[in-house]
Amino acid sequence: MMSITLSNYKEAEFTCHSCGWKGLGRETEMGEVFSEVVEIDCPMCHDNITSLPFTRFTPVRHSIDESKLLKNAAQLPDIAADEIVINFNVGDMGSLITLFHNDTEIWREPTSTYKYMDRYYEIGDILKQKYGGRFADYIPCQSIYDYNDSISEAISLGSYRKSIIARE
Ligand SMILES: [Zn+2]
Repeated sequence: MMSITLSNYKEAEFTCHSCGWKGLGRETEMGEVFSEVVEIDCPMCHDNITSLPFTRFTPVRHSIDESKLLKNAAQLPDIAADEIVINFNVGDMGSLITLFHNDTEIWREPTSTYKYMDRYYEIGDILKQKYGGRFADYIPCQSIYDYNDSISEAISLGSYRKSIIARE
């Protein structure tokens, strides 16, 4: 039997041993979040049904040309705006990261792993160096979460996003 994880639990069947509720994972409630697991609670009596581990995907990818990666602020264009909002996008079937300011692409680089969140942080630090107090928001695309399906990672990303755009 396939093991149930956070990435497939929504279609799996669960039974609550407290009240007898039966149903699909998508109907359950999410309980407490720990570093390794998330609790799944009963939607009827709210008792804990089970705990699910976070899944980690580590697909093998081709190596990429490291010289094409953003490494320092000087590689980024100057932008004449008081408030700079940057969108972080994953494109080209997941093998490309692009940065947009409004409709203008300001950066693109290949990516060799599905760990987009790690790269989101690294690039965010460089954007902060470049645009400083004018860096007004740093919006991740939805697919950044696809291979990082841990709720605690999503929460960390949210805090990082807030911290990076905070005015000093
Ligand atoms: Zn119950």
